Amino acid sequence: MEVIVATWREPGDVASAAAMAARREGADLATALERGLAAAELDPSLIAIGLGSVPNADGELELDASMMIGKTLEAGAVCGVRGIVPVISLARRVMERTPHVMLAGEQARRFALEQGFEPRNLLTENAIARYEEWRLRPERIKEYVHHVDDKPSDTITMIGLCDGELVAASSTSGLPFKKPGRIGDSPIIGAGIYADDEIGAAGATGNGEELWKACASFRTTMNLRAGMSPQEACEETIRHMIRRQPKSIDIPCVVFAMDRQGKIGAASTKHPFPLWVCRDGNRELLEFPSLGPE
Ligand code: ASP
Repeated sequence: MEVIVATWREPGDVASAAAMAARREGADLATALERGLAAAELDPSLIAIGLGSVPNADGELELDASMMIGKTLEAGAVCGVRGIVPVISLARRVMERTPHVMLAGEQARRFALEQGFEPRNLLTENAIARYEEWRLRPERIKEYVHHVDDKPSDTITMIGLCDGELVAASSTSGLPFKKPGRIGDSPIIGAGIYADDEIGAAGATGNGEELWKACASFRTTMNLRAGMSPQEACEETIRHMIRRQPKSIDIPCVVFAMDRQGKIGAASTKHPFPLWVCRDGNRELLEFPSLGPE
């Protein structure tokens, strides 16, 4: 059995299609997820992640990514990386070629250059125009929007299951116009992603501060371990967040999960949530409920 899932309608479409194509060409699961996220990072027309995504408050792109292998619990991540894509490949290099879990900022970039990544300008004209428009609005300091032009989001998180092995991965440009240096949940193991072949896997997207405080992916995976179904596991995490973290309903927070049988669940604090699900070669977009006040 093979199941691959990817978050959000527009960017998840590109990532899930590329991951499936990689599997058809014989790529292993980690490589398929890496290629899926890399395809979206390298597509300048997607404002979600990588090249052409929405910059920080200084008008610069700072990218984060992570990967976790459920068989070995190996994990790798990078955060606050400038001028390098695909950062999901860099996160995988951290996992496979260093004894560490995470490299940050300028030193992550230095590692990328050592590894042969080419530095490049990631800002497109479209991204610069969005930034200028935001910068000229006086209320900008307080405003951290999650949806730009109703095209969520700033992250793609993926989970895959193949022959009993689980992999989770995420790539993001973080919240639009974030404070420089700000890191969200996506590159944090246990917050943005988690995978354990003995239990299942989970991923998150949305307001990274709140998802991180909830250790959302780890909590959801532990809910699976306690015997909940993937849907129950996600709903427990989201209900807990709504009850204990009122800010989690200002900007949507989403968790999704998969058990070892390939069953899927997802829930959100605000707005229904679209998830691409590819099951044994068939791809469909499913919508999961919001549990927050409408
Ligand atoms: N979780 C990401 C972050 O806070 C943003 C997103 O999922 O859209 O950086």
